[in-house]
Amino acid sequence: MKKKKSKGNTKKQKSLEERMAQELRTVWRRYSPERKKALASRKVRGVAGGFLCQWCNALAIKPNVDVDHIVRVGTRPGSRNAISGETDWNGWIERLTVGASGLQVLCKCCHKYKTKEESK
Ligand SMILES: [Zn+2]
Repeated sequence: MKKKKSKGNTKKQKSLEERMAQELRTVWRRYSPERKKALASRKVRGVAGGFLCQWCNALAIKPNVDVDHIVRVGTRPGSRNAISGETDWNGWIERLTVGASGLQVLCKCCHKYKTKEESK
């Protein structure tokens, strides 16, 4: 009986962690001054929403622009593809909130490619 109960709790906790990771990423995207700094450094003057991709150097126009963490953040602690079995949030949050020098502005295409390579 006890086993059944704890199984149910684990399931609930997992989805809570998923949501926490998602919300933290959203807050980072909206409010991180470091993210804004990284974007500003790649802004193309005179082109609305235009940025230079740091990989292919092509002009990317929003929303085709992503800010990438050079060091992979990982889905979330405890997830299947978390970084080397990481289960605690401190390292994850630290990587998420890295300084502007730990970020790069990429076009969607390059970012997609990088993310795919990292999850291999
Ligand atoms: Zn690119």
